Amino acid sequence: MLGAGAIGCELGQCFARLGSQVSLVYRKPQVLTNEDLDAAKVVESHLLEDGISLCAEHTPVRFETSDGQHTLICEHMGTERRIDFDQLLVATGRTPNLQGFGLENLGLIKQGDKQLEVDEYLRTELPNVFACGDVIGPYRFTHAASHQAWYAAVNGLFGQLKRFKVDYSYIPFTTYTSPEVARIGINEKQAIDKGIPHEVVKYDLDDLDRAITDEAAYGFVKVLVKPGSDKILGVTLVGEHAAEMLPEFALAMKHKLGLNKILGTLHAYPTINEANRFAAGVWKTPRASKSTGLA
Ligand SMILES: Cc1cc2nc3c(=O)[nH]c(=O)nc-3n(C[C@H](O)[C@H](O)[C@H](O)COP(=O)(O)OP(=O)(O)OC[C@H]3O[C@@H](n4cnc5c(N)ncnc54)[C@H](O)[C@@H]3O)c2cc1C
Repeated sequence: MLGAGAIGCELGQCFARLGSQVSLVYRKPQVLTNEDLDAAKVVESHLLEDGISLCAEHTPVRFETSDGQHTLICEHMGTERRIDFDQLLVATGRTPNLQGFGLENLGLIKQGDKQLEVDEYLRTELPNVFACGDVIGPYRFTHAASHQAWYAAVNGLFGQLKRFKVDYSYIPFTTYTSPEVARIGINEKQAIDKGIPHEVVKYDLDDLDRAITDEAAYGFVKVLVKPGSDKILGVTLVGEHAAEMLPEFALAMKHKLGLNKILGTLHAYPTINEANRFAAGVWKTPRASKSTGLA
């Protein structure tokens, strides 16, 4: 498997569990490079448990075939490494296929264009042609395409009366490995890179009764909070049901509800979603002690 982004990790783990011997070959030191290192580490440990060979910091150089045996030759820390394989799956990224459908005849794409250009109302250069989905990016997910489809359809039909700018503020990112990684807003890596002031609140699922009884007591809830407030800047969840836990935070962020509101909402016991409330509790505890004078 060439590439260890979401698709490489998901399909690599899938094929390993179906019985294939899988090598995941990638250039960076961690899988899922857009995710925080602690999140990637949890996934990596499970990929290893599934018997996957993790070839980090391997730069593919060339392929060879000799007597029917395919080999990928990589550069790894100054040395040449040879990896034999029978099937190769390339998961190094996707670009939209723009050619051959007549878009060039309409003047909507030029030589070298990687995606279809639209304005913030999802309109192309032609006033009666709107676009949505992978072909325009910037977030290539099914839910992003469906979100854009609403704007494209409404602006196309009723744009002369009222137009809506597409809103990308709260796009969920989910990787369906086992365990899953789900994220919304910024993560720690992005906050540090962009110099965004933040506090980190973390609750580990090995403390959560439902995760323990489900034999899934690994992963965490990590919330980035604006210093001095309960405003949620971003959330990274790692766990077997991480994607199902995310909408509570998505709702909170979209509707400007902070951690106090999540803490003040009763969650049923024993559920995985209780972890969200416990994370809010981790944030609240030192602050409550301070305000009551209790140590
Ligand atoms: C392996 C993989 C796993 C993924 N997993 C997820 C995931 O878990 N969650 C998620 O949100 N996203 C996932 N994605 C991304 C998701 O599939 C895309 O973002 C989404 O399908 C984009 O929708 P779309 O309608 O823009 O394009 P598409 O779903 O690609 O639809 C385009 C359609 O247009 C048709 N078409 C193309 N040319 C023509 C033509 N000339 N005439 C007529 N029809 C044509 C195609 O056949 C296709 O049916 C994954 C992608 C891949 C490759």
